[in-house]
Amino acid sequence: MSLGFGRHTLAIPGPSVMPDRVLQAMHRPAPNIYSGEIVDIAASLFPDLKEIAQTQGHCAMYIGNGHAAWEAALANTLSRGDEVLVLATGFFGEAWGWMADRVGINTQVLDFGKRADLDLAQIKAALRADSGHKIKAITCVQVDTTTSVKNDIAALRKTIDAVGHPALLMVDCIACLGCDRFEMDAWGVDVMVAGCQKGLMVPPGLAFVFFNDKADHAQETADLVSTYWDWRPRANPEQFYQISCGTAPTHHIYGLREALNMIHEEGLDNVWTRHEVLARAVWSAFDHWGQDGPVELNIADPSKRSVAVTSVRLEAPFGDDLQAWVKQEAGLTLGIGLGMAPRGSTQAGGFFRVGHMGHLSAHMLLGTLATIEAGLIALDVPHRPGGVTPAAQVIADHTRRATS
Ligand SMILES: *Cc1c(COP(=O)(O)O)cnc(C)c1O
Repeated sequence: MSLGFGRHTLAIPGPSVMPDRVLQAMHRPAPNIYSGEIVDIAASLFPDLKEIAQTQGHCAMYIGNGHAAWEAALANTLSRGDEVLVLATGFFGEAWGWMADRVGINTQVLDFGKRADLDLAQIKAALRADSGHKIKAITCVQVDTTTSVKNDIAALRKTIDAVGHPALLMVDCIACLGCDRFEMDAWGVDVMVAGCQKGLMVPPGLAFVFFNDKADHAQETADLVSTYWDWRPRANPEQFYQISCGTAPTHHIYGLREALNMIHEEGLDNVWTRHEVLARAVWSAFDHWGQDGPVELNIADPSKRSVAVTSVRLEAPFGDDLQAWVKQEAGLTLGIGLGMAPRGSTQAGGFFRVGHMGHLSAHMLLGTLATIEAGLIALDVPHRPGGVTPAAQVIADHTRRATS
């Protein structure tokens, strides 16, 4: 008999848990979209979004998901035949490059594999080799949600500057905006893309592109820009319909307003710290279990791990079996391993991910970890017993430090 009744827990890396406050803010009748409250609420979102992105630049909003933001970033800065340097540290970094290919951009891909962050020496060499400055943009993820690696974006900018290369730096923060620290202006990022359904705690449906003046200037010669994707009217609307090039995403605007209120009440620094502490709790549990068995964190170096998501390796078929067990027996859905091994291969069942982004308390996370431990026991997966204890210790140590 299953013990999976009661509230089901979703611990996948997006969409993330939706706060009741966000859901309640959205539960209301359709507003007039020509004047009134919705116009002011929509305008109020942008300063708050820029604060979270740590930028004084521009922000365009689209009705769309992360893929829409990817396409928007390309469409506003590039032309067919342009060259882009694609930095891949997992499936998502690669996939942004495929979108560029499809619209006629020439991509040069540097693939750093599935267990490592960017190799700056290789990037430097590739940029040096481009003495004619054919490369117009460099695309990269801050956090690749498939591998859970976190790239050092400030160091990447320093590398680009050291070579004196003028390419635009475009960064995907879809997984981690509002989770992992990010400072767009201080780190010299020209274009940043994000979505609303991960760290921002809103149902999927809003995509954001942040850009600076340099990127906006590139738009003047870009031949991919079209009426719908044009970021200028969206970022600087003269009429309300222009913020979304048509009917506004009314209920997402209400939901996002509430989510931003919640982030503001907690404080962005505290939001980052909470994610960091909870992530350390996750890592400590897996490190412990893995001492006597096949459980292993995908990224070995803690300084290169995202605090929003954790990618785990657990010898096939244990990875799949554990996901099935926690779902059926205990009411918990974990994230699947994405793009880690070819589909249908024997290794494919050897991965899963824990999403720990957005609306998450210590209690919710400890429940997830304890449930994973129950699954390891129930399935006879070799592991060192007691991984929840070091996780509890991380939580306790943090509050002790904070109150003493
Ligand atoms: C989730 C995610 C995407 C894709 O977003 P969609 O909303 O599914 O289109 C892209 N990049 C990263 C890093 C992500 O985490």
